[in-house]
Amino acid sequence: MPDNNNKELTLSAPLSGPVLTLANVPDPVFASGAMGDGIAIDPLNDTLYAPCAGVVMHVARTGHAITLRADNGAELLLHLGLDTVELQGEGFAVLVEEGAHVANGQALLRYDVDKVALQCKSLVSLLILTNSEEFQARPITLKSVKVGDPLLHIVRRVTQEVASEIEISGIEVHGHIRIAHRGGLHARPAALIRQTAQGFQSKSQLHFSGKSASCDSLIGLMSLAVGEQQEVKVSSHGPDAQAALQALLQALSTALAEDSHAAAAPTPITAPQRPAEKGVLHGVCAAPGLVAGPLFRLNAISLPVDAGNHDPEQQRQALDAALSHVRSDIEQTLALARKQRNTDEQAIFAAHLALLEDPALLDAAAQSITCGSAATQAWSESIDAQCAVLQQLGSPLLAERANDLRDLKQRVLRALLGETWHYEIPHGAIVAAHELTPSDLLHLSQQGVGGLCMAAGGATSHVAILARGKGLPCLVALSSALLEQQQESVVLDADGGRLELTPSSQRLADVQQALLEQQQRRALQQSQAHGNALTLDGVHIEVAANVASSAEAADALANGADGVGLLRTEFLFVDRHTAPDQQEQRQAYQAVLDAMGDKPVIIRTIDVGGDKQLDYLPLPAEANPVLGLRGIRLAQVRPELLDQQLRALLSVSPLSRCRILLPMVTEVDELLHIRQRLDALCAELRVTDRPELGVMIEVPAAALLAEQLAEHADFLSIGTNDLSQYTLAMDRDHAGLASRVDALHPALLRLIAQTCAGAAVHQRWVGVCGALASDPLATPVLIGLGVRELSVSPLQIGEIKDRVRHLDASACQRLSHDLLKLRSAAAVRQACQQHWPLS
Ligand code: PEP
Ligand code: MG
Repeated sequence: MPDNNNKELTLSAPLSGPVLTLANVPDPVFASGAMGDGIAIDPLNDTLYAPCAGVVMHVARTGHAITLRADNGAELLLHLGLDTVELQGEGFAVLVEEGAHVANGQALLRYDVDKVALQCKSLVSLLILTNSEEFQARPITLKSVKVGDPLLHIVRRVTQEVASEIEISGIEVHGHIRIAHRGGLHARPAALIRQTAQGFQSKSQLHFSGKSASCDSLIGLMSLAVGEQQEVKVSSHGPDAQAALQALLQALSTALAEDSHAAAAPTPITAPQRPAEKGVLHGVCAAPGLVAGPLFRLNAISLPVDAGNHDPEQQRQALDAALSHVRSDIEQTLALARKQRNTDEQAIFAAHLALLEDPALLDAAAQSITCGSAATQAWSESIDAQCAVLQQLGSPLLAERANDLRDLKQRVLRALLGETWHYEIPHGAIVAAHELTPSDLLHLSQQGVGGLCMAAGGATSHVAILARGKGLPCLVALSSALLEQQQESVVLDADGGRLELTPSSQRLADVQQALLEQQQRRALQQSQAHGNALTLDGVHIEVAANVASSAEAADALANGADGVGLLRTEFLFVDRHTAPDQQEQRQAYQAVLDAMGDKPVIIRTIDVGGDKQLDYLPLPAEANPVLGLRGIRLAQVRPELLDQQLRALLSVSPLSRCRILLPMVTEVDELLHIRQRLDALCAELRVTDRPELGVMIEVPAAALLAEQLAEHADFLSIGTNDLSQYTLAMDRDHAGLASRVDALHPALLRLIAQTCAGAAVHQRWVGVCGALASDPLATPVLIGLGVRELSVSPLQIGEIKDRVRHLDASACQRLSHDLLKLRSAAAVRQACQQHWPLS
């Protein structure tokens, strides 16, 4: 007899038959763990027995399920077969009543094996621990069992006391909302929901169509298969339940930025029917473009999975190490994406990080390891089971997310086996594969491939989004015929959805010619990048570069920059444990000046604080970091730090080429204070020259006070990234709002117009150093509103100068003032396309 006490409980098998982990149950809700921890048996007998002593809490009206409360408080759902509720009780005979006390091994219900097996989806039956937040289930065996064999250990969770305190002190609240996310609740929106829920102590769940999922599990959320505009119920339970509920309702009803991409992408998942063309495979365009090149077949390497019996502790450690290795790789990708402000890449890999922590995956793998599986096998099976769950949901979008799980499967297996991603691919090759994963795509784009084509895949997959972002032409859904091709050279016409397998030499030559012309256009822009950018009517626009180091400055000069429009000095201060001293700072600033020949360099004083914390610069924790002590406000709390930077700046030469820029200014006194400090430091250092001093216009207050600021500043530089954030009250890094944080919003255009008008009163020039300056669609508007310097990313200098040279400044002025009257950023973009089309 199992030894039951108040803490631990051993459950005996309620049925005889092979044992399955939940992940292998062919039912998305059970398999995702949404109903709780547990185990399943594929039964060979006709009676369900009590797995322990307890009270019958509930008997399903249809007789297919019974809930018991064990003496230690664990609540156990015994569910016979899948979808057996639909039999409406036919074939079931319940042998106990609600409220009855039953002994371990007592018969609970009998069923007609043949009848039920014939009419239901599967006889696989479940033993689910429904209060899994209090207890944990650990399988004792995954082999076949007979009724009464030890099956599961039930232990109280260590956090149980804390958890129950929260339960007691908290309240339960709920609300209903329609899902605004394009395509429903798939990986990225689900990751956002999980992230939102994790900001609160309360536990939240989503309920849809009779199923529930914890907001902690990405897979559980996806398994609900909630479609766009479908209504879900959200419930939150705990001390901050009301706040959690509001945040979740908001997150569910705010469409993610990907909507714009989804709109840009063709929607069909399978290739449209087209008349067969000899020598051509038809697919779906996932990223536009036309390329020719050698076809390179990329076969996924199948990594060995070890089926032997292993020491659980060792395997657990190996899996933990592999998971943290992959986690830190993904974190690096994320950091880079953040630096490059690549919001698609950020959202996709943030979802991968969340998946890597998903309890549905980790618990299933841990269970298999406990039962003696190797870490490779446990991880592999756990992923395969969840892929099957996603693929059974009947939603192509969710089925595509299985590819993200396969990516994580491969990455963790590689880490476990000590292997690396390695293929020798010729430059410019067109890579053919069954289906590529997001991390494959990052490797391939680094290797300079020309294009991608896949037998499977969809145009809304994460790979497709990444391919579009990298400008790599990509076709998907080309069918398995793709994998049989041996051709040397092919043409990938992604816009036309065609992979030409036997292009004539004329066709190859034409495609090469088109590519050549495009490259020539870029080369021409590049070759003219060193000249001045004058509009057709002779207005000079300075096109400078945003850089973060002397190496980047050298690149910018080589690319034709007229100067540095923004040196973000944070590069010197971050990722280290001690502050750079004055000497080190001086050398770094001087190196940038030297790298720029005789061109001017605008150096912005340090913009840390808020969310950008430095180890050696402890600042008070902020409730609202972006509204706190950041930018020039640092002078308020750490004046010596700013003085040191100003001293370093005053010691570069020549000072006539060094312009100082102050971030986050909101009022004139901040500028006057720094002017006074500069005067005092110049006297102290016996410096006679004064560097020009400019103000960033990146909060609405500064734009509205532009005239007063311009009276005392030498120039103004508009930071459209922060100006958008503060004008629109939208976090500039919010994945769910990214498509709406658009600096072409008419409200921002009004602030830009007001800035230029204010500066003009005192004959000061205005530049733009935020991302809007690099957007060619915005170039005519900015020129029209009065901006005379654009500081762009170094690679875009030629393109932006070329754009300037095709514009008429007075026409820009006439037309752009009308844009201020429009209603939205989308309307402004549309009008820009009409007035100044981009080829
Ligand atoms: C801006 O806010 O537009 C800007 C250029 O500054 P940063 O992006 O460094 O905040
Ligand atoms: Mg800024």
